Amino acid sequence: MLVTVAYSVMTCYPIYMETAKRNPSAMRTPGAVLLISCYELGHRPIGLTRPLRALESAGFSPDTIDIAVETLDTEKVSRAEFIGISVPMHTALRLGVHLLQRIRELNPDVPICMYGLYAGLNADYLLSHGVDYCISGEVSTQLVELVQSLAKKKHTKAQKHPTITIGKLPALEKYAQFEDKDEVRTVGYTETTHGCKHLCTHCPIPPVYNGKFFPVQRDTVLDEIQKQVAEGATHITFGDPDFLNGPMHGLRILRAMHEICPDLTFDFTTKIEHILKHRKHFAEFAGLGCRFIISAVESLSDKALTILEKHHTRADVETALEIVHGAGIALRPTWVPFTPWTTLDDYLEILEFVNTHRLVYHVDLVQYAVRLLIPPGSYLLNRPETKALSFTFDQTVFSYMWSHSDPRMDELHKTVNALVEKDARTDVDTKDTFYRIWELAADMKGQPIPKRRSVLHLPAPRITEAWFC
Ligand code: SF4
Repeated sequence: MLVTVAYSVMTCYPIYMETAKRNPSAMRTPGAVLLISCYELGHRPIGLTRPLRALESAGFSPDTIDIAVETLDTEKVSRAEFIGISVPMHTALRLGVHLLQRIRELNPDVPICMYGLYAGLNADYLLSHGVDYCISGEVSTQLVELVQSLAKKKHTKAQKHPTITIGKLPALEKYAQFEDKDEVRTVGYTETTHGCKHLCTHCPIPPVYNGKFFPVQRDTVLDEIQKQVAEGATHITFGDPDFLNGPMHGLRILRAMHEICPDLTFDFTTKIEHILKHRKHFAEFAGLGCRFIISAVESLSDKALTILEKHHTRADVETALEIVHGAGIALRPTWVPFTPWTTLDDYLEILEFVNTHRLVYHVDLVQYAVRLLIPPGSYLLNRPETKALSFTFDQTVFSYMWSHSDPRMDELHKTVNALVEKDARTDVDTKDTFYRIWELAADMKGQPIPKRRSVLHLPAPRITEAWFC
């Protein structure tokens, strides 16, 4: 039987669809509920920690696997009565879909729920390819409701595995670390908000949250931080889509965190517009332990920035650099240099900008190879510039496909991508790869090979996981 229900919970816009009723039983048995995370940018997945906490509070004893740092425990999969797979991003979705086949081999009838941003965006495909439920938006609450409803349908007193010991989450040391010259710190992760009040067209968040964001209770965030500090974290990544959507909410949490753990350092992500608007807070952020800020600059081209609806200009980026660096914090820009609207000149402008501002160590090399992804439901599809290009959807990669009107850009993307992958494997210095990329782009344009600057590029703190998608 096919049942499809779409409803709204907590004033957000989750998607919850059910396709099949299977045979749930003994849902409260330890390990009966299994949560699997596929990938969360190298940090301990909040797609496990928050649903785990919510399910435990509701009387369940879930088990977890993070396949980014653990092998798939086939026993856990085989004994599960319900499996939730966290897919908050594109890479996680692709891994999750691959995982589905293996789970079905091990436990053919288990109800499977995919949850997170990309579960909502790709629900149509997932529900017709072996997934029973898709949830996005405020996932913890909805997961609890779903598991409770399955548990009510059939109570089985017999316990298939009465002596199971539930494993802990993987140690923080297994995840990416904070690095700054010789300083290495163990990293904890939390979020003070969900969603985002902005509507950048290339971002997967607006189709799910539609310009809304939701603060997480201060005590919940502080509790998560303190628990991770007890496990050895000395640096916290605030992974909110934009930490400054509610600046005072974030600031109050930072002040309280600093009171409790004065030596803790942290990083967060915010848009250029917010850096300019909230410039008065940056000296305090630095005093509270902020070491770097990530900002999605994406492009310096007015045309591309207009289509992506970023609401900043090259001059704003320069002002943001002055504000953040002036406070003694590093600004780490991220880029989307390959879009149908960015030209070879635009690409060269990014390289020149990074070089001029001595930012070579502030940019992860993978950023020079990022190619625009357009998932189903993307707000980009509403733009007239996109409609004019009539993209086709490729289900195998969960994205609309495009090629550049200038074939050199597609060729450059392939070459830079291969170079970045190769150099990452062989540990080449970031500066050498950066200049090699610049040489490739300049050569394609027929420009002279750029001279390597004798000035030192500024060192920059970072998290040792270079992927921000
Ligand atoms: S790119 Fe950042 S600011 Fe824009 S919608 Fe996404 S999270 Fe919000």
